[in-house]
Amino acid sequence: MILTKDEDIDLIRQAGKLAGEVLELISKAAKPGMSTWELDVMAEKAIRDAGHIPTFKGYRKFPNTVCTSVNEEVVHGIPNKKKVLKDGDILSLDIGVSVRKMIDGKPFDFIGDTAITVPIGKVTDRVQRLLDATQASLYAGIKAALGGATLDDIGGAIEDVGNAGAYGIVRDYGGHGIGPQYHEDPFIFNYRTGSKTKLKPGMVIAIEPMFNQGGHKVRTKSDGWTVVTQDYRPSAHFEHSLLITEGEPEILTKRPSEVIS
Ligand code: MG
Repeated sequence: MILTKDEDIDLIRQAGKLAGEVLELISKAAKPGMSTWELDVMAEKAIRDAGHIPTFKGYRKFPNTVCTSVNEEVVHGIPNKKKVLKDGDILSLDIGVSVRKMIDGKPFDFIGDTAITVPIGKVTDRVQRLLDATQASLYAGIKAALGGATLDDIGGAIEDVGNAGAYGIVRDYGGHGIGPQYHEDPFIFNYRTGSKTKLKPGMVIAIEPMFNQGGHKVRTKSDGWTVVTQDYRPSAHFEHSLLITEGEPEILTKRPSEVIS
């Protein structure tokens, strides 16, 4: 999707801002003893109270508002009353907010998509380094997402951070364009592929690196959604939605207290 009209850019900013606010709310609420279900309920209420729509709920039949992925779960974990967070866990929270506008009687959604991985209680230094590196790679990818840059500039910036820490960079999932149906082209690899596809002002994209403490390989569990590392070692995931400009991108999903470094 390429946005050119100011009113459309305002709507995607609204979606991104709310996504960032709700992500901060639930990431700060996540504590040992809480279930992933409770965080999902909190997020859905916050989005609906603001008059907007949880993008993921019902998307390809995903049942909830937030993807909650714990430890070896990489992405797309399903919130569950029985999944209670423990001290030393890490939790990836991924959320989408849709701001809907009717155009010629048909709904058209402006979507903000963002994720964070947070420590629950006290994690080991090694796990904290995995979180820090994955976040740093997202910021490196964002800095590379200049108008006129290529997708490989983003993938290369992320790959360099992953390689420096010898992390397994997940290859089967990655960033994407964002449009009214949520995911759209281009797929954005988190490593170099030689892509010459250029970023154009007005494009809306999500960058979302996933780093594993072990190997890069993942598989999907029998619930059809939850992606886990094949070696069951922990995985981290961070994501922002961006509006590409002539120069540096605008981070649409920045959280209220987030400091970008
Ligand atoms: Mg995404």
